[in-house]
Amino acid sequence: MNPFLNPLFAARLITRYFTAINRAWRLTHDELKRYQDRALRKTLAYAYQVPLYHRKYRKAGIHPRDIRGIDDIHKLPLITKKDLIEGFPDQVVPPGYNTAHAYVVGTSGSSGRPMSMYKDMEYITTEALAAVRQLRAYGMSWRKTRITNIGDFSVPTTSDEECLKKGLMGNLSPFFSLDNYQNLYTGEEARILLKKMDSFHPELIIGYTSVLMGIASLKMRGMGNGVKPTYIISSGEVLDGYSRNYIQEAFDAPVLNLYATTEGGSIAFECLRKGFHINSDFVHVEILDRDGEPVSDGEFGSMVITRLYPGGTPIIRYTGLSDIASLSGEQCDCGMHTPLLKTLEGRKKDAIILPDGRIFPPATIPMPLSEASAKYGTLQIKRFQFIQKKIDDIEILIEIDEEQRDRGVSVDTLLAEILHNYERLVGERVTITVKEVKKVEQPEGAPSPPLIISMVDRKKIEEALL
Ligand SMILES: [Zn+2]
Repeated sequence: MNPFLNPLFAARLITRYFTAINRAWRLTHDELKRYQDRALRKTLAYAYQVPLYHRKYRKAGIHPRDIRGIDDIHKLPLITKKDLIEGFPDQVVPPGYNTAHAYVVGTSGSSGRPMSMYKDMEYITTEALAAVRQLRAYGMSWRKTRITNIGDFSVPTTSDEECLKKGLMGNLSPFFSLDNYQNLYTGEEARILLKKMDSFHPELIIGYTSVLMGIASLKMRGMGNGVKPTYIISSGEVLDGYSRNYIQEAFDAPVLNLYATTEGGSIAFECLRKGFHINSDFVHVEILDRDGEPVSDGEFGSMVITRLYPGGTPIIRYTGLSDIASLSGEQCDCGMHTPLLKTLEGRKKDAIILPDGRIFPPATIPMPLSEASAKYGTLQIKRFQFIQKKIDDIEILIEIDEEQRDRGVSVDTLLAEILHNYERLVGERVTITVKEVKKVEQPEGAPSPPLIISMVDRKKIEEALL
């Protein structure tokens, strides 16, 4: 049955639609925090019925009534991806949970067993409200703005995008015309994607960084004249400075970062002033060090999230995202009062680690390359990749755009400058090689060429981070 035809559900939803989206603007910083306290208590009352959480909390000797708000959250034990994997299906929802009305969503099992969890329609709708909030921050409308979403619709019923497309859009379509959405598949060739967008004329494009890079390089060659978006949202992969600049130049439009995950929904997004706003009324973010203690503002550590609304599988102090990030203690002056991430650095397992213990997360490691390109004002690099073969041996592969070759500076000079910058960064104990390749490497099963391939024992990185 279409849940939107249930009047109680629809009434609850409409109320939430108006109040929830505006909360980021309407509430002050302190009011948002008090809202979080109430939301956490409600969420914990629900989670305590869920066997996985009940057991963990009993074992830790903690009861939901001991938690009065976010300031007490550190008393709760951390939940790992392994906990969710082992608890699925009957330990991750309350007894008697109606799974027939829920969707099973999961992360792809690129490393080990996939994680699966339940989301119900109300849960998915709440996540969608965060997306509507982001559009509102850009002065856009979810019912009018022409939006191209290049998503991963390949795995039926297990991807969030599929869930949204079939579930939410399927249920909404009797009420609204959704002709303003174009859903494209990320696995298609960049040329075909651009051609489809050319006749749709999107005002907003959402896609993975690597896919956006692919279409940006075609756009630079003068293809896709009808594709003139006002804004571009990059999501699902690290957005490093070079790639952001490259895509911005190609489309002459700002590229904004979105941090959305299966487990936490839309966690944070950049406003037009590039403040990286956490949807703190939907998801609480902690950044912890290897001992599980919070790091200071501006320092990087591991992302730990708590979803602040009940329903489906609760996500409370969840460490399984394995992302590196830092918090900013500052506030944005764009009008939203939500707290800010300072940086989102990408996956822990993709970090480069040096013999002296220094760690360079994925978003940071391309910086010297970006500086070399900026020095000569060139965008002839269309793709790059870091391969850490050993702890003291790093190879940098570079693809050059033939149309732009030697523009601004010769390829040889550019590569020499890149080498020089990295040698200065890593020091004498590490060997750096920079070489031009026709194509960077794409391991079997990878949807797109990864930014970083690390052959270093992952334990070394895990020892250094939570
Ligand atoms: Zn802002």
